Amino acid sequence: MKKFLITGTLVMLALSQALTTSSQTLEKNFQPSEFVYEADRFADIRILRYELPNFDRLNLRQKELVYYLTQAGLAGRDIMWAQNGRYNLAIRTALENIYTRFDGNKESAEWKSFETYLKQIWMSNGIHHHYSNQKHQPQFSKSYLQDIAKSTKTEISPEVMEVIFNPNIASKKVEKDASKGLVENSSVNFYGPGITTEEALAYYASKIKPDDRTPLSYGINADLVKVNGKLQEEVYKVGGKYGQALEQVVMWLERAERVAENDKQAVVIRKLIQFYRTGDLKAWDDFNIQWARATEGDIDFIHGFVEVYNDPLGNRGSYETIVEINDFEASERMKVMMDHAQWFEDNSPTQVEHKKKEVKGITYKVVNVAGESGDANPSTPIGVNLPNAQWIRTMHGSKSVSLGNIEDANNKAGGTGMLSEFAHDLEEINRAIKYGEIAGKLHTAMHEVIGHASGQLENGVAPSSQTLKEFASTIEEGRADLVALYYVMDPQLVEWGLMPSLEVGMAEYDGYFRNGMMVQLRRLKFEEEIEEAHMRNRAWICNWIYEQAQLSDKPAIVKVERDGKTYFDIRDYEAIRNYVGKLLNEVQRITSQGDYEAAKNLADGYGKKVDLDIHKEVVYRSEKLNIPPYNGFMNPVLVPVNDQYGNLIDVKVTYMKEFSEQMLMYSKNYGFLK
Ligand SMILES: [Zn+2]
Repeated sequence: MKKFLITGTLVMLALSQALTTSSQTLEKNFQPSEFVYEADRFADIRILRYELPNFDRLNLRQKELVYYLTQAGLAGRDIMWAQNGRYNLAIRTALENIYTRFDGNKESAEWKSFETYLKQIWMSNGIHHHYSNQKHQPQFSKSYLQDIAKSTKTEISPEVMEVIFNPNIASKKVEKDASKGLVENSSVNFYGPGITTEEALAYYASKIKPDDRTPLSYGINADLVKVNGKLQEEVYKVGGKYGQALEQVVMWLERAERVAENDKQAVVIRKLIQFYRTGDLKAWDDFNIQWARATEGDIDFIHGFVEVYNDPLGNRGSYETIVEINDFEASERMKVMMDHAQWFEDNSPTQVEHKKKEVKGITYKVVNVAGESGDANPSTPIGVNLPNAQWIRTMHGSKSVSLGNIEDANNKAGGTGMLSEFAHDLEEINRAIKYGEIAGKLHTAMHEVIGHASGQLENGVAPSSQTLKEFASTIEEGRADLVALYYVMDPQLVEWGLMPSLEVGMAEYDGYFRNGMMVQLRRLKFEEEIEEAHMRNRAWICNWIYEQAQLSDKPAIVKVERDGKTYFDIRDYEAIRNYVGKLLNEVQRITSQGDYEAAKNLADGYGKKVDLDIHKEVVYRSEKLNIPPYNGFMNPVLVPVNDQYGNLIDVKVTYMKEFSEQMLMYSKNYGFLK
């Protein structure tokens, strides 16, 4: 599971408010370094660099390991492009060719639109928006593209032209509305032509043994295709599908294995290599088990076909890599929470039979990212909890990380007045400035550590990917959010020294509703419904609680109209917490019993529809503030330094100036699937 920027938004708002209301001196205090975060802006995107603190504290061998792991990640970058859509690599190659060769008028509106379109594609590893799933619509004409293709000797087939310009072809990456055909209407490149949802579901249903307590992750690393009318898998492995890229990945992993920090870590890397060589699902499980257990060392990584959000049926994993360096100080603070994991489970407002008797293997770390690739770049999560297989989590534990330097970049690149625009009153603003950052960090920690790790299924109930189907992701993310929201208002956290006062929880509630009821809507187009799992869970949590609150004579949260603007004001934080507890109890029941209808009621009934008037207002109010709603990230470039004999003596952290420069370099150096 991964967690997107949400708490980061809150922190960003808090800091930026401080910046806009304070003097030059304060501004200096908030930006102690000369580091330049922002690198580019286009469409609805802002590209940021992130710092790599403490890299120089690593020893040479550790730096070498980090270098090899980041190279292994980048070597598979093209896999994500290919997975995202069958035309992506051809389109990228053609557009990059034009971009680098064109020597005509670069001041024209059409060239600028072309450049924006290419950057949008880079941002989303393909032609669909990374968040909305909708196809990017070029703001330049077909004849213009034909002209500049000709002048740069670039070939674009008529078929590819249609894919770029015809809004009815490949209009959506992932279809989540079952009535429209989950597989049929998704253009993600996981299912061959002519395969129906029914066929794909039946294919995997036949593999699952109902009494299997350790089921394999069927379909995680394969496309499903039809050959002579028969369904079969094309497995991602060396010598198989995406083999050219995976060969390179394996080469770098082999180097990494030789400089591993300890034996356990070396075993983990060897298992991963074995998985990429064989495509064997058992090897994937072995890797994940070893990985979950390997908690020593300063360096860790995520590498594989991991998150299943891009598959409308939730089977295939998207290629993703993150290389992590431990942030010891921040992790130490969170150890307190891990030590009390069982207390959280026991005191949760869920039913006794839905609680884990023994919460196992919870680790939580704040790490700094040294490099990301595939599904995690340029758009990145801010927290990750893996492995995804429920039985491995239960039997062998899981690891949960918060990406500290990514969150920092989100926060420090601020410079907005969003908080003052959408907060109801000065008290709320001041609370966010004072406690927003700690509230965000605590929410992330609890969502990952105790949220996803909590609860258990009733006997004989299948995993929620099978019972809750297309609602599994949003229900799971909502469940983890509810656990965090419930405890962020618990006095016990103050007693343990995790937060200074309950005002932290109040700041979190303010921010959560501000975002869920209003601010996040600016990410949508008008008339569009909410689809992305995390956005949707925020909406159904907020709307459900708001509706409940209105049934009371003294509602705990009210909608306020002032000077033609809408605000949501929380009047009773304890009462909100009670609603959170009630909803958590119900959502845990839905998960534990696999209640599809109830999941659908919540996710569709409260989390899908958008009030058009509110939506227009949010877009109007935030447009005036001029802040792109999404952040993308540029990795640092790690450069090995050799002595005169060719021995590695150091690894330097450098940064590129332009986003386009980095994207072109990646395509050139790691374009293994052309
Ligand atoms: Zn999550």
